[in-house]
Order: sequence, then structure tokens, then C-alpha cells
Amino acid sequence: MIIDLRSDTFTKPNAAMLQAMYHAQVGDDVFGEDPTVNELERYCAELFNMEAAIFCPSGTMTNQIAIKCHTQPGDEVICDVLSHVYIYEGGGIAFNSGAQVKAINGVRGLLVANDVEAAINMEDVHKANTALVCLENTGNRGGGSCYDFDEIVGIKKVCEVHGLKLHLDGARLFNALVATGQTALQYGNIFDSISICLSKGLGAPVGSILLGNAAFIKKARRIRKVFGGGMRQAGYIAAAGLYALHNNIDRLAIDHFHAKQLAENLLRKSFVGKMMPVETNIVIFEISGKYTAQSFCDFMKTKGILCMAMSATIVRMVTHLDVSEDMIKYVLYVIEEM
Ligand SMILES: *Cc1c(COP(=O)(O)O)cnc(C)c1O
Repeated sequence: MIIDLRSDTFTKPNAAMLQAMYHAQVGDDVFGEDPTVNELERYCAELFNMEAAIFCPSGTMTNQIAIKCHTQPGDEVICDVLSHVYIYEGGGIAFNSGAQVKAINGVRGLLVANDVEAAINMEDVHKANTALVCLENTGNRGGGSCYDFDEIVGIKKVCEVHGLKLHLDGARLFNALVATGQTALQYGNIFDSISICLSKGLGAPVGSILLGNAAFIKKARRIRKVFGGGMRQAGYIAAAGLYALHNNIDRLAIDHFHAKQLAENLLRKSFVGKMMPVETNIVIFEISGKYTAQSFCDFMKTKGILCMAMSATIVRMVTHLDVSEDMIKYVLYVIEEM
């Protein structure tokens, strides 16, 4: 048995999710005729009280479509230096949108309103036109960090004053909602567009959703087609997404509890140094002394536990729905014995 703590993307559909996929009603979604995709999009739009939604193959695509819709070539996008749109999307902002990035330092991947305001270019022919702010919640490289909603309200005010759009990379937004008690409606009310991943902690095999107003999603449908993301009988995977949204949101609290247990045990070990605050399902910590990040991961692997070395000295562990209470007990035991 392998316990995979590398990422919450390694989850596999269980029997009930596979049943939902097997029984899905499907049609050609490029023609708008897949009833299950339509149901998923309608369900998500309603959940966030936003006008419309579009189902896409990945979170990279939903982010990139949003950025393409909100910007013109030569525009500037403000985001955190640690953000996925900046470091993990293959230079997509330049490649797909011809826009440039002003990456600024936030706190564990979370931006602060004053810093956003200071980063906006004033009207000047020398300067790129600042068009968009991208936030990420939870902050992946920030160790699953969660925004204080008041900070988002402050950033939104700055965007309104300066005529900027506000996009949320909410790949793990549901982790943030469960951890903080904030609601999907609060988010739908404040962002111009929101991307959520069904294939992370929610446990679906594939798929992300982009939300926005009707005109934005109409434009997004055209861009999705151009990006090659128009899918035909996509209802089979949309059914997995619906199953995930119906069944796997509340249980994220279990993953968060497991992550806290891992963190507590790790912090008792002499070879574990600084750890990022554990707010959701991600545990990121420094290794020193008798292990390097790689030798720690190699040792864990001999015990059937997979972790990720993020650098020579930093290790990441992520909890998710395929890591049971018993598996966590075993991991805690292995750590204790090290
Ligand atoms: C996983 C992830 C995405 C999207 O990734 P895909 O693998 O393309 O679905 C976007 N943002 C963050 C923060 C992520 O963790």
C-alpha cells in the first residue's frame, strides 16, 4: 500500500464516483448539448450566485482563459511572486495573452491591498496598462494559506478605484471556505471571475470551472475553443465533478485535521526546522541535520509514504481524501520512530 502525500491531485475516483460517471447523460458539449456539463455549470453558478460558468479540462486553462478575457496585449497583471499563474503555467500570461506580470511580495502568497495599490501603473505612455489583479486562495506555495476576507474587500476597493478586474485562482477555494467559515456567495459577490479545481482535494479525476458574468463566460467559450479545450461527451467527467461537489466539500475538514496532526508530530523532531503555519491541507517545512529534503523523502518512500522535496531543504506533504485516518496514524508512527 502506498500513501501518497505528494499532492491532492493524486486522488482516484471511488466506486460511488465511478457509478455517477457510468450513469451520466451525455451529448456534444461544443454544441451546448451535454446535459451533465450544463447541470454542473448551472450548479456552480448557483453555488456562487454568479451569472454563468464554463467547464474546462484544467485549472491552468481556466486561469489562462480568464486572463485572456480580462486583458489586451501589452497590459500588466498584478499577482504574488508565489502565485500559480506566474510560476506554474509555463509563461502562459505572456504566451496566451501577450501581457506582462508585475509579481509582488505578499505574505505567504497572499496580497495586501496597500501593496496592490502601490503596484498599479499610473497613466503614462512609458508604462504598461495595469488591467488585472489575480489572487490565489488557498495560496499553494504559501502552504495552503487563507485570505482574511477583509483584505479581499480592501483589494476590491483598490480595483474599483483604478478600474481593474479581479480574478481568483481558487484551485483550493473550498479548502479555504471550510477552514475559515467564509462562504461561496461572499466570493461570487466580489470577484469578476473565479477558477475552481474539481481535481484537487475534491477528488474528481479531471476538470475545473470558470465563473463570471454572462458576457464574460460567452467570451470564455470562444477562448476555450481557441485553446483546444472544447470537449465533446464531457458529461462523463462532469458527473465526477458534480459528485465531488455534492459529497466531498465538508469532508475537507478531515484533511485539515490530518495535516495539523502531521505538523504537530513533525515539529517534535530535531531534523524539522521552520514550518509554514498549517491552515488547510498542506504542510511545508524545512529539513536540516541528519536529512536533506531528498533523503527524508527517500526514507519515507522505503516505508511506502510519498512526500515531495520542493528544494534541497524544503519538504511538502498534502493530505486528501485518499489518505485515511489509519494511514495518517501509520505516518505519525513512522515519523515518531525516525
Ligand atoms: C493545481 C493548481 C492550479 C491548476 O492546475 P491544473 O493542474 O492545470 O489543473 C491552479 N492554481 C493552483 C494554485 C493550483 O494549485
